[in-house]
Amino acid sequence: RQSLKIGLIPADGIGKEVIPAARKVLEAIGSDIPKPEFVPLLAGWEVFVRSGTALPEETVEALRECDGALFGAVSSPSRRVTGYSSPIVALRKELDLYANVRPVISVAANPEEKPAVDLVVVRENTECLYVKQEQLVPTENGKEARATRLITERASRRIGKMAFEIALGRPRKQVTIIHKSNVLSVTDGLFRETIRQIPFDSNGRYDSVKLEEQIVDSAVYRLFREPQIYDVMVAPNLYGDIISDAAAALVGSLGLVPSVNAGDKFVMGEPVHGSAPDIEGKGIANPIAAIRSAALMLRHLGYTAPADRIDRAVDQVIREGQVLTPDLGGKSSTNDVLDAVLKKL
Ligand code: NAD
Ligand code: MN
Repeated sequence: RQSLKIGLIPADGIGKEVIPAARKVLEAIGSDIPKPEFVPLLAGWEVFVRSGTALPEETVEALRECDGALFGAVSSPSRRVTGYSSPIVALRKELDLYANVRPVISVAANPEEKPAVDLVVVRENTECLYVKQEQLVPTENGKEARATRLITERASRRIGKMAFEIALGRPRKQVTIIHKSNVLSVTDGLFRETIRQIPFDSNGRYDSVKLEEQIVDSAVYRLFREPQIYDVMVAPNLYGDIISDAAAALVGSLGLVPSVNAGDKFVMGEPVHGSAPDIEGKGIANPIAAIRSAALMLRHLGYTAPADRIDRAVDQVIREGQVLTPDLGGKSSTNDVLDAVLKKL
């Protein structure tokens, strides 16, 4: 590659504060990566209010020409708004970004020590209840709301394979399937069975991976009591969404946890957090989740060394504890944290 074309979609709220910080970090990497070329793109609630669409066609078309992308966060209203649909959910589908990979790793006080929490949530990104086939049906007893929960063998197999592949690259090499097939024996049953079959169809490739499973509610309980039992957790869309937010609490803040939306051809980094309307515009959003998302994007593009450099710089800033945003008990601003990271780089 001559240059690295990266779509930037800050979208709404603190997305507009943390994505520029991630951009600055990518710019500071230097010759370890091809010169980044940024393509600013629109999506989100504000664009919807202005133009009637939350995901302009130009954004999707431009992304198809990019090597990777960074997405901030959208402010999706909780009430139903005619014509509005979450652009991030649409983008994941449109670009077939079928896996949402969310590493949740704590920073040990001593760099020689192992982190207390070191797991990866691998969330299926295209189906489950997020197919959004909802109906409101009038009945004699009032309204009835129904939703379709789609689980396919194809999507379960590819997310399962992604989980096994990620496990192969980690010291513990363990995959835990998260499900509720004791109750949802057809949908979650298919998810579980399909993933359990993968090692048998892999010509020995996954022989070194230990396969476990855990029912979702007790999985959350055990996550809080003994997070060290997990390595790679693979889950259908909704469970994966909830578990990764919950796991973020274990490492101190949602503002620390990155993700990538990954398909076979494209990767988009995205902090796990939302648009945080409660702190929007105050300049105190933690940029670390976005910065680590940029690192994770580089990692998925094959640039491991610069990704490691970014993560090490962030680890140092957290470990020293001098420059932290209020979500971590500090008094520093988004820009202070960015500057501290840039200095370590
Ligand atoms: P949220 O993640 O925006 O915020 C939850 C809490 O965490 C808030 O108290 C917030 O201040 C704090 N927080 C989150 N990120 C932070 C950061 N970087 N630094 C410091 N504190 C941080 O979740 P919410 O409040 O439930 O949702 C707000 C909006 O975001 C909603 O409109 C929701 O639809 C949207 N949302 C979008 C995405 C996405 O774009 N992928 C994900 C989740 C929520
Ligand atoms: Mn979420």
